[in-house]
Amino acid sequence: MAFQLKRRTLFAAGAGALAAPSLLAGIAGAQETAEKDGMGKSADFRTLKLGSFKVTVITLKLGSFKVTVISDGTRAADKPHEIFGTDQPAESVSKLLEQNFLPTSGFVNGFSPVLVDTGSEVVLFDTGLGEGGREAGTGKLAEGLKAAGYAPEQVTVVVITHMHGDHIGGLTEGGKPAFANARYVTGQVEYDFWKDGARVGTPAENGHKAVLAKVVPLAEKITFVADGGDVVPGISAMAAFGHSPGHMIYRLESDGKAMILTADTANHYVLSLQRPDWEVRFDMDKPAASASRKKVFDMIATDRLPFIGYHMPFPSVGFVESQDQGYRFVPASYQFDI
Ligand SMILES: [Zn+2]
Repeated sequence: MAFQLKRRTLFAAGAGALAAPSLLAGIAGAQETAEKDGMGKSADFRTLKLGSFKVTVITLKLGSFKVTVISDGTRAADKPHEIFGTDQPAESVSKLLEQNFLPTSGFVNGFSPVLVDTGSEVVLFDTGLGEGGREAGTGKLAEGLKAAGYAPEQVTVVVITHMHGDHIGGLTEGGKPAFANARYVTGQVEYDFWKDGARVGTPAENGHKAVLAKVVPLAEKITFVADGGDVVPGISAMAAFGHSPGHMIYRLESDGKAMILTADTANHYVLSLQRPDWEVRFDMDKPAASASRKKVFDMIATDRLPFIGYHMPFPSVGFVESQDQGYRFVPASYQFDI
């Protein structure tokens, strides 16, 4: 928790240095600043303060696409070894954390939906925890969109990478679609699995209920994308099954620049990337998840592509270098500024 507070303070200080005073005055000010500065710089941090509520977003340019990463919030949890490396001795998990200057007693998980403005489409990838996460300090996507200068009505496509609660929670607000003018794109395998009544009485029952509440009511506006299929020109799907039955990731490509949105292929920047074979409690098919991790990050390392990972440390943008047993996460710095 202490770490979380420090991190927020740090970002707030950063925004103070970067942003015009009007940015901190309220939503109208933020939108005004976003319009003025949005395309002038290629990477741009901004924090918007709403009373005691802070949201942080970063916008960067990929070719002619404008890519905005929005922090939906962070959540602290205990006992990393009960989530990551569940097939390993707890001491091995602690040792790797220590080697990487991380605490062993707990960890902080972030949630980072991504908005891609292609110039003709505004495509949102995943929706955070939504209203259900607000009490715990998450569910900040809507405010983050405002900070980035977008209204929810401007979103034309919502892509759901997979249907865990931290990705579908923001699809509706008060029982109504949160993105009134959007169509939806997701994978058929994922949708069919969670919608199926056969999940009742299994560990997936709660997820099934959440999908009935959040996704199924939008069915008329859903289209399905398969491996290699396009969402819109320049955004294509890749199957990366394992974390969930139909987990999909996406390749963005514009003017010869490419980037991968890896969603939940790896969920901890040290434990899942440096040891991609280690079992993760939230991976529903553990061998398949591990195989997908290695396939996807081998490609990212080999092609030296930037990626955005939904649970990577905010702003969640980086690269990976291959190591003997896995990959080293290299956070992006000014690569998008030059
Ligand atoms: Zn997730």
